[in-house]
Amino acid sequence: MLYPNTQLLIDGIWRDSADGRTIDVVDPATDQVIGTVAHAGRADLDAALAAVEKGFGIWSRTGAYDRAKLMRKAADILRTKADEIATVLTREQGKPLAEARSEVLSGADVIDWFAEEARRTYGQIIPARTPGVAQMAIKLPVGPVAAFTPWNFPINQVVRKLSGAIAAGCSIIVKAPEETPAAPAALINAFVEAGIPAGVVNLVYGSPAEISEYLIAHPVIRKISFTGSTPVGKHLAALAGTHMKRATMELGGHAPAIVFNDADVGKAVKLLSASKYRNAGQVCISPTRFLVQDQAFDSFADGMTEAARAIKVGNGLAADTQMGPLANERRIPALEALIADAVLHGAEVRTGGNRIGNQGNFFEPTVLANVPSKARIMNEEPFGPVAIINRFQTLDEAIGEANRLPFGLASYAFTRSAETIQELGIRVDAGMTSINHIGLGLPEAPFGGVRDSGYGTEGGSEAIEAYLVTKFVTQMAA
Ligand code: NAD
Repeated sequence: MLYPNTQLLIDGIWRDSADGRTIDVVDPATDQVIGTVAHAGRADLDAALAAVEKGFGIWSRTGAYDRAKLMRKAADILRTKADEIATVLTREQGKPLAEARSEVLSGADVIDWFAEEARRTYGQIIPARTPGVAQMAIKLPVGPVAAFTPWNFPINQVVRKLSGAIAAGCSIIVKAPEETPAAPAALINAFVEAGIPAGVVNLVYGSPAEISEYLIAHPVIRKISFTGSTPVGKHLAALAGTHMKRATMELGGHAPAIVFNDADVGKAVKLLSASKYRNAGQVCISPTRFLVQDQAFDSFADGMTEAARAIKVGNGLAADTQMGPLANERRIPALEALIADAVLHGAEVRTGGNRIGNQGNFFEPTVLANVPSKARIMNEEPFGPVAIINRFQTLDEAIGEANRLPFGLASYAFTRSAETIQELGIRVDAGMTSINHIGLGLPEAPFGGVRDSGYGTEGGSEAIEAYLVTKFVTQMAA
């Protein structure tokens, strides 16, 4: 099966890097090199900056109606290519084909959502003190954007930033992940095929630190958006601050999933296990710390263990695979170290805990129970297929544990008590709380964190604001 080599997109042209450098792309299921991606150098970045500046001049003066129309066309192109792109995505990232396909299709929905939002960037008319004066607060695109995205959702992580920027009238340079380059390139090519003017959307790959440092400091770039780990996010936010650039930071999490005695435990197991092992747990909103009230503990832990054991792990291209390999080799020693440390602290391994085989980055769906809070895995985002199940007695104790870490991205709970539901919605310190179902990540709903999980939202009606500035214009007839 052919896997495309990926080029840079600069000023509307797909091209190799100026010095011809490339990076190998490895299939995480086979360890084989399946292709290459162009590695941008300084000359390529300068060309992309010139293009994005020119693109902003064109796109910021293109009407919202026309921007929306082009975006819808790109979304339709993406839908028609869903199967083809899903295969590419699975080969470079590892997730099962069905998950890859759904990522492409939901990417098209994100584009449509932002296309609709493009036409609703309303300002305000402010009553004036003097007759004949019109006072207006108008929304304008912030300027050329630099976006940095990770490898866990190669399409989804790009499409939210790209669509928000384009809808608002901004141009953009995307630095997409070198490990999974072809799927984001296919997404961006849908915009090229839809007829986006040259320079509005540019795509580069290379050395992440080199590129981010150069682009964030560059005067052409006015806005930064990053998704990835908290330490890198803090570094980039500091850089953005130094250069007075607006920033959106979607960072790590360590989501609590609280299951109360009065919950439908069977339903909680079914939904939370599916959510836990989706994309092999490499999801920023993955439930990770399962806090289970005393009487529900045994049936929940048994249910999760059984569900984990039943998962068919394999190459994402195989029709019966439910969980693919980890996307990159470095997650294996990272998970092994976290699990070994948990065991050293007295954790019980209910199932899994090991790498599978010695080809591809396969890892067993794992359940740990009774993990002390001083174990590293209780404090660091596992970012892998590991469920940690611990016991609690009271609501206050559960909320205390949920809020113990500096993260605050996703949170989940299962209970039949209306009173508990209300308490959780307010008291769990997280950007998102999903109760009695798994309902996060829709384009029309806010998506983002608080505290060390970052700031800004990448969904809902506020998301486009990240790419807009408010300008006050007061005028009267001469
Ligand atoms: P990492 O911290 O090295 O990198 C995370 C992402 O940031 C990658 O895409 C990387 O290319 C990018 N990056 C790293 N340094 C950068 C820089 N100076 N400038 C711009 N981009 C930079 O970690 P990793 O090994 O790739 O992933 C492991 C950890 O990253 C996970 O434990 C998880 O916490 C986090 N992560 C989070 C998400 C998310 O959706 N929030 C996605 C992927 C990874």
